[in-house]
Amino acid sequence: MKFKKKDVIIKVVKPNEALGRIDEGQVCVIIDGRLRQHRNKVHLKKGNYFDDSVAFSIASEETKVIIAPLAKIEQATPGIGEKIARNLEVKKEPEPKSKKLTYLKQVKCPVCESNFTVTKYFSYKLEQKSIDRELRVRYKDAEPLLYDLWRCSGCNYTNFQDSFHSLGKRELDELKRACRPDGKKQAQLNRSPRVDLKQDAELKAGGETIQDYNEYKKNMELHIAIENHLWFIKNFHKYCRVQEALPKLYLHLAWLYDDVKNEEKAREARMKALLEYDNVYSKSRLTLEAQYKILYLIARLNHTLGYKEKALNNYRKCLSLRVNNRQINMLAEEAVSEIKRELNRQ
Ligand SMILES: [Zn+2]
Repeated sequence: MKFKKKDVIIKVVKPNEALGRIDEGQVCVIIDGRLRQHRNKVHLKKGNYFDDSVAFSIASEETKVIIAPLAKIEQATPGIGEKIARNLEVKKEPEPKSKKLTYLKQVKCPVCESNFTVTKYFSYKLEQKSIDRELRVRYKDAEPLLYDLWRCSGCNYTNFQDSFHSLGKRELDELKRACRPDGKKQAQLNRSPRVDLKQDAELKAGGETIQDYNEYKKNMELHIAIENHLWFIKNFHKYCRVQEALPKLYLHLAWLYDDVKNEEKAREARMKALLEYDNVYSKSRLTLEAQYKILYLIARLNHTLGYKEKALNNYRKCLSLRVNNRQINMLAEEAVSEIKRELNRQ
């Protein structure tokens, strides 16, 4: 292939280093060495090529690549650019779509090393429908809150799925010590009744229709999620050092109680969430964005719980931070006018 110098970039990537992004309309061809593509775990070797749809790749060994616009490749070697373009298009054709939104995954507990199974959503299949006034994101046919907490079936260690494997060494050592040898037995004894719940669901759903079963399963999963939230909250200081996570847990718990229509428990959880958000707001060092979001939630929780004046003050405080977030600003402004109207009427 013949190129003009300015059209092409030749890059040498050292082992385990990342190749930067490819610009739109450009193609990267491997001249020598091997690249590992993270997203689809594919190894590419000499002669392979890809375009800007690949986020980034890591060199498995020293790798030399040439990056050039597709049109220039075609110009330099007629037929080749076209062939590359055709092949790249074929790869982009959507896979036959499966409707399944979840899959099962084996997880190894960092504390007791037991393996257990969790349900996960294919995140790329989640379709956001709306965000409600407490900033709860609603998805089409999916509720990620159901599986957001992972709880080890061996020792009951619980955490958000994203933080499950990021315990600090000190916390991990403490938990391991508490877990062995009697600790583990104790944990087994303390084990939640969720296995029974599952069996129960299967028994009860035995003679009924699929729809009943799905309804029952959803309900059961909600109860498991509630139970896991309660367990995490009870053991919060053992499992987590991030104080901001506690009010979030209570708020999520309130939403789960909403879903099972337990108003009293939902209110209780909102009271706790409010208390903990107040706590975090007054005691933690927060970025401006975090302060803004927490103030909004403090206002909203006060509002929902019927403390209108406190709500009003906090909405105003939140808006006075002038953070550029259209959605929250709009919700806060609407709430301010709503409360003012209500207070005037009284
Ligand atoms: Zn465990």
